[in-house]
Amino acid sequence: MIQLEIDSRRLEAEPGKTLGAIFHEQYQEAFRQGVAAKLNGRLIDFHTPIHESGRVELVPVESDEGLSVLRHSTSHLMASAVVKLFPDAKLAIGPAIADGFYYDFQVDRPFQPEDLEQIESSMHAIADENHQFQRGELDRNEALQRFREKGETFKVELIEGLPDPRVSTYTHAFFTDLCRGPHVPRTKMLRHFKLLSVAGAYWRGDSSRPMLQRIYGTAFPTKERLKEHLTRIEEAKLRDHRKVGHALDLYSVQEEAGGGLIFWHPHGAAMRRVIEDFWKSEHLRRGYTLVVTPHIAQVDLWERSGHTGFYRENMYFLPIDEKEYVLKPMNCPFHILIYQGKKHSYRELPIRIGELGTVYRYEKSGVLHGLARVRGFTQDDAHIFCTREQVESELQGVLDFAQFMLGTFGFNEYQVDLSVRDPNRKDDFMGSDEEWETAEGALERVLQRSGVPYHRAEGEAVFYGPKIDVKLTDALGRQWQCSTIQFDFNLPRRFDVRYTGADGAEHQVYMIHRALLGSMERFFATLIEHYAGDFPVWIAPVQVQLITIAEAQVPYAQEIRTLLLDLGIRVEADLREEKMGAKIRDAEMLKIPYMLVLGRQEVENRTVSVRSRKKGNEGTLPLDGFVQKLVAEIQART
Ligand SMILES: [Zn+2]
Ligand SMILES: [Zn+2]
Repeated sequence: MIQLEIDSRRLEAEPGKTLGAIFHEQYQEAFRQGVAAKLNGRLIDFHTPIHESGRVELVPVESDEGLSVLRHSTSHLMASAVVKLFPDAKLAIGPAIADGFYYDFQVDRPFQPEDLEQIESSMHAIADENHQFQRGELDRNEALQRFREKGETFKVELIEGLPDPRVSTYTHAFFTDLCRGPHVPRTKMLRHFKLLSVAGAYWRGDSSRPMLQRIYGTAFPTKERLKEHLTRIEEAKLRDHRKVGHALDLYSVQEEAGGGLIFWHPHGAAMRRVIEDFWKSEHLRRGYTLVVTPHIAQVDLWERSGHTGFYRENMYFLPIDEKEYVLKPMNCPFHILIYQGKKHSYRELPIRIGELGTVYRYEKSGVLHGLARVRGFTQDDAHIFCTREQVESELQGVLDFAQFMLGTFGFNEYQVDLSVRDPNRKDDFMGSDEEWETAEGALERVLQRSGVPYHRAEGEAVFYGPKIDVKLTDALGRQWQCSTIQFDFNLPRRFDVRYTGADGAEHQVYMIHRALLGSMERFFATLIEHYAGDFPVWIAPVQVQLITIAEAQVPYAQEIRTLLLDLGIRVEADLREEKMGAKIRDAEMLKIPYMLVLGRQEVENRTVSVRSRKKGNEGTLPLDGFVQKLVAEIQART
């Protein structure tokens, strides 16, 4: 990265000059590769007048910041094309987002796919004219007047909300937008973009404000990278858990029952049972005790826990008799009540209480999304109560456990965020310095030992304790939030959660919340999209499909079905009087790992003709031999 210095002498000689003007001659090549710059760490563009001395770094387009500048600039370009084609469109905002950008418009009618094509070609035409992104500065009142005259009511509202006495605008060609910047220097740098979709979006996300039309798009520095990204989007659409979930009949959301509430159909429920059984047995092996707690509790409990304060907006309240109840949004207070059912000495600690606990949380209807964002879900929750000395080994155990679980489901790449307290804002966080130092130190040491790459997020801890969040990477390289390990210095105080120490005195426990998969629903979405519905045999909803060629093989098929069911194998038999080819195609659509084709020969020789989804035709095997092999494969969880 090119670094330049603007010294104060130079600034005095050339006050208010732009970066481009100061350096361009000297560093033409570097400027061609850069899209913006940072002056003393602050993003500016090549057209920003400079009024301070300091260090300048050129921001290359390949960097995250460079990409954002490129994409945000493309949103301006899109807005200019929209205004050209729809002169009555009013403009709202147009930021860069992960993987792209959007712009919100108020228009008389929703945009159609043909509109997007037209807008896109108009964008190319404007970009090719190679306009400069010219920065202008105005007094706030002048800007207000200017945008009011143009009838840009949303911009007027934005300016009214700005504290600054002066505001900046950016102009390319005929189009001027209110914006802080930065942007690429010229429109010709915007070449590899694509408009992707349109959605309704409320102004400022507020359902009482006007509904706008949001156009999403993406942009990249090269044609190849754009193409790669578009291919990935297509692939992601094919794997969309809502689509695959419907095709494989795994789950549904029923309009009549309400949004965000999941109905697990037989095949989805079969997979959930496999996940739950595996989860429970692994927890028991690791010294957890498993509990089951109610779905509702009196409001007093949630007042004591503090949830009615800081979590109120997400909670459902139910009047019952004279009392108010709450549909539980979290399992923690329940596990604390169980812990407190009796006194505990230090010798009994750590105590690890786990539950597949179903919780309900209010989410706005607009954000509900298949299995990934719902209103009712089952957390694979546990709470660990331990002493200070046990903190580090407990964390090590949880992290190893999380890696084992995720690895078994086929996820071996993760990214971890360690969220710690901001040492300058200690008052915003609960708990003593000793607690925070113990917890943060242990979290960091455990992460370092594990070799998992992690990002330390200063000041990102929740008010009640530091935490780590594990995001796994799926087959398309996308990240999914799953495991979380959080300290809590709040609840043990509010509920006075204690143990008797070796010194005979009462001490407050260290309490850790943790979930490994996150929630059954979300994790199921992750699994579906990672495998595109093509699940490993141990989790597949149907492991074996029996296919008869003629009526005469039905008794043999029924015998095999009973044998496999007895072994706990998920088997279905297609006994229809259909052609074998059609039956095979149907089983292929359902992505069933093994098909056993049964004809006259197979009945006579007590064999099965095996078609494996992974290996294709495996030929004829003795029935016993096939069953042994299948059982071994299921047990190995591969
Ligand atoms: Zn802008
Ligand atoms: Zn909890």
